[in-house]
Amino acid sequence: FSSAELTRAFLQRIAELDGQYNSYISVDEAGALAAAAAADTTLARGEGGPLTGIPLAHKDIFCTDGLRTSCASKMLDNFVPPYDATVVRKFRAAGAVMLGKTNMDEFAMGSSNETSFYGAVKNPWDLERVPGGSSGGSAAAVAAGLAPAATGTDTGGSIRQPAALCGITGLKPTYGRVSRLGMIAFASSLDQGGPMARSAEDCAVLLGAMAGHDPLDSTSADVPVDDYLAGLGEPLAGLRIGLPRQYFGDGLDAATGECVRAALGEFEALGATLVDVDLPNTGLSIPAYYVIAPAEASTNLSRFDGVRYGYRCAEPVDLHDLYTRTRGEGFGEEVKRRILVGTYALSAGYYDAYYKKAQQARRLIARDFDAAFQQVDIIAGPTAPGPAFRLGEKNDDPVAMYLEDVYTLAVNLAGLPGMSVPAGFVDGLPVGLQLVGRHFAEARLLNVAHQFQ
Ligand code: GLN
Repeated sequence: FSSAELTRAFLQRIAELDGQYNSYISVDEAGALAAAAAADTTLARGEGGPLTGIPLAHKDIFCTDGLRTSCASKMLDNFVPPYDATVVRKFRAAGAVMLGKTNMDEFAMGSSNETSFYGAVKNPWDLERVPGGSSGGSAAAVAAGLAPAATGTDTGGSIRQPAALCGITGLKPTYGRVSRLGMIAFASSLDQGGPMARSAEDCAVLLGAMAGHDPLDSTSADVPVDDYLAGLGEPLAGLRIGLPRQYFGDGLDAATGECVRAALGEFEALGATLVDVDLPNTGLSIPAYYVIAPAEASTNLSRFDGVRYGYRCAEPVDLHDLYTRTRGEGFGEEVKRRILVGTYALSAGYYDAYYKKAQQARRLIARDFDAAFQQVDIIAGPTAPGPAFRLGEKNDDPVAMYLEDVYTLAVNLAGLPGMSVPAGFVDGLPVGLQLVGRHFAEARLLNVAHQFQ
C-alpha cells in the first residue's frame, strides 16, 4: 500500500479515537497528506530509505516550521515557529510524514501528563490512569495505534517512564547524541530527544535518522553514528548485566519488582549473567535533579516575557506589569513552582548551599556508574516504581510525583543512554524494564532490547 493510504488510515484513527486519549495537541492533515504524496512519488522512482512515507508524530516541544509548537503551555499557545528543529528537519529529509504534534506536560515538567494546558492524556490501557510524562502524548499515541512511532524528550525520565506506563519501547540517547536545536529548552544539561516506538528495531531505525553531530548545537557530540540495525541480531551470550541493589529496595511496588525480576530471568536464559552492583549515591538523584533542573529551567524560561513571542497579557500599563501578568497568566502551577525553586537555588548566598552541592552530588552519581561499568556491560532494573497510577492521584503532592523518577533521573545526571522495554503486566497494566548503557552504547542497548523482545 502507498504512504497516502497509510497516512490516511492513521489520520482516520486519530479523528475517531483521540477524543478518548487526548494524545495530540495538533494534527496536520494537509501537511501529512502532501508529504505522503511526495513520498509516494519518491518510492515510485525506486528511491527513498526506510522512513520514506512512514507516518510519525513529534512531541510538541520540537519546533515545526509553520505549525504551532506549544510545549503544552498557554504561554506558547499561539507560537508558530519560523524553522524546524534539527530532529524534525532530519525526519523530513528522510521522507517521514508528520501526522501532528503530541501532548505533553507543560514545558516537559511532570511525570503524568496532567500539567498540559490542553488537558491530561489518558492511558490507553486504562482511561482512568495516567500515561506517564512528560512525553505521555507520544507514548499514548503509539500504544493506541494513533502513530506507529513518535519522538519524545527525556530530561529526567520523560521518554522511559511514559514508555513503561504505556507498554511501548523508548530510548533516551547519550547526552549530545541527538541535536537539541529547536527543541524548546527545559534543563539544557539534561535534555535529550529520542525515539518512542513499538519495538527496539523501530527505535533503531528512528535513532539512525535522529542522531548525529549538529554544528548548530554546541553540546551536540561529534561522534560517528553507529549502524543501529546492524548489531540487533548479536547473541547475548557472555553479556554481564548489573542489577543495582538500590533499584530493588524500598519504594518499589512488590508486583512490579517481581515482574522485572521475571524479565531478567529471561536474559539468563539468553546466556547473559546477572551480577549485583552498587550505585551507592542513588539517593542523591532526586534532590540533585530537583535543584539542577529547576535552576536551568528558571534561566531558560526567562525568555517567555510577553515581548518577543508567545502569550502577552491584555493591556499592560508598563513593562513590569507586562512581565508579571504575562508570566503569571501564561505559566501553569508546576512551571511556576520550578521557576521559584530554581531562582531561589541560584540566588546569591544560596548558590553554594544548593546549586553547587547538587553539582557535586551529580559528579558522585556519575562516578557510581563509571565504577559499575567496570564490572558489567549493561545495568538493568525497573523503569518506574509501579505501573500507571490514577489520574489525580499524585497531583496534590509534588514530592510523591517526583518519586516517580527515582530510577530514571540518575541516568540523565550522568548523561548515559537509557531504554525502557516492556517487561510484562501487573493487574493488566504494563511494566517497563530499564536498560542503561555506557556513553554512546545505544547500539548495544538496542541489541539487548531486541534479543529480549
Ligand atoms: N518528571 C521529571 C520532571 O518533572 C522529568 C521530566 C522530563 O524528563 N522532561 O522534571
